[in-house]
Amino acid sequence: MRSTTDCLVIGGGLIGMLTARELVATGHDVTIVEKGRLGGESTWAGGGILSPLYPWRYSPAVTALASWGQARYPRLIEELRDTTGIDPQWEPCGLLMLDTPETAQALQWAQAHDQALERIEGDAAARLEPGLGFTPDGALWMSEVAHVRNPRLIRALRASLERLGVNLREGEAVRELSHRGGRISGVRTDRGYIAAGQVVVAGGAWSASLLAGMGLETGIEPVRGQMLLFEALPGVVRRIVMNAGHYLIPRRDGHVLAGSTVEYVGFDKSTTDAAHQLLYEAALRLVPALGDFPVVGHWAGLRPGNREGVPSIGAVPGIEGLFINSGHFRNGVVLGLGSARLLAEIMLKITTTIIDPDPYRVAGISALA
Ligand SMILES: Cc1cc2nc3c(=O)[nH]c(=O)nc-3n(C[C@H](O)[C@H](O)[C@H](O)COP(=O)(O)OP(=O)(O)OC[C@H]3O[C@@H](n4cnc5c(N)ncnc54)[C@H](O)[C@@H]3O)c2cc1C
Repeated sequence: MRSTTDCLVIGGGLIGMLTARELVATGHDVTIVEKGRLGGESTWAGGGILSPLYPWRYSPAVTALASWGQARYPRLIEELRDTTGIDPQWEPCGLLMLDTPETAQALQWAQAHDQALERIEGDAAARLEPGLGFTPDGALWMSEVAHVRNPRLIRALRASLERLGVNLREGEAVRELSHRGGRISGVRTDRGYIAAGQVVVAGGAWSASLLAGMGLETGIEPVRGQMLLFEALPGVVRRIVMNAGHYLIPRRDGHVLAGSTVEYVGFDKSTTDAAHQLLYEAALRLVPALGDFPVVGHWAGLRPGNREGVPSIGAVPGIEGLFINSGHFRNGVVLGLGSARLLAEIMLKITTTIIDPDPYRVAGISALA
């Protein structure tokens, strides 16, 4: 196994995989080191909605990255399907929000950011989603929001990275970042040393501990999210529907995801009966017919949480050649494409073309040592 590489990415979640894809496209020799399976953590557990939920509540920095990615997902999916034969099932079924206490804010946001969002009457909402358990007073409708099927996206990306020649090292954990004279030199793993010219920390919820080992603090922390999976039939749920923070996502084959919890319980990935009950009841309130179908999955994932929801993307100050792409919290799937391109441009010292890098700068990392 090679023990030297141009660019080493720590973490093979969606963010690490997309970052590696950008870097290898520029002719660099790229290695991903993943302690488990590629995409096996938060990325596998996630819902794949390609929009922040209640997007007007986020800062313009999140909207900017989300918009960049939303416009490019169809192309990525097409490329992956054509080159790997695996279809991640991009579904532009729209997002219907039944609780609308912030309608004015939402409409203002949509106008300012040129987003398709409208207020509709309750009966129009019921026509869009005939299985609703109640007719709301009104709803917010985002007709262009899509979702992807994360496990398929992971498989397709993995196949694509193999084709592109990215060196994939799974089941290997990075224990320590090595640096000499203010410059990154490589990483020490549980299998040995890998020399690297540039290192990207894309370790999701675990990113903080990697950097804390160097005396740097990120503020990234694990935030547990639990999900249920119903084995329903196509058409039982037609849109991404949400109410009071809970949502349903209809997959092409009829499966319906019901999410999710937001729990600050450290690195505990266990599922709980209380969350099962909460998600089940919320799902049936939205679409009662789901009660006719079995729940065939219940899992938890650890989101890379941070206080503002704005990911850290860029160079780590003080250590030349060390970068971070992490802290995407609830929105890593929709923000990932833009984050990966932005970081690649920063690493390759390309004058940034896609987006202003300032809001994502690693200012939150303060040297402690
Ligand atoms: C229930 C739930 C629902 C969600 N729904 C959505 C949604 O609908 N839309 C959306 O956009 N986002 C959603 N998200 C958020 C999204 O899944 C995450 O933001 C995204 O997956 C983060 O990707 P990541 O690559 O940073 O993290 P991860 O997928 O967790 O990947 C990080 C990887 O780094 C590896 N790693 C860590 N430390 C080391 C080490 N020392 N050495 C080697 N490898 C290491 C880990 O094993 C892991 O595989 C959801 C998340 C959850 C949990």
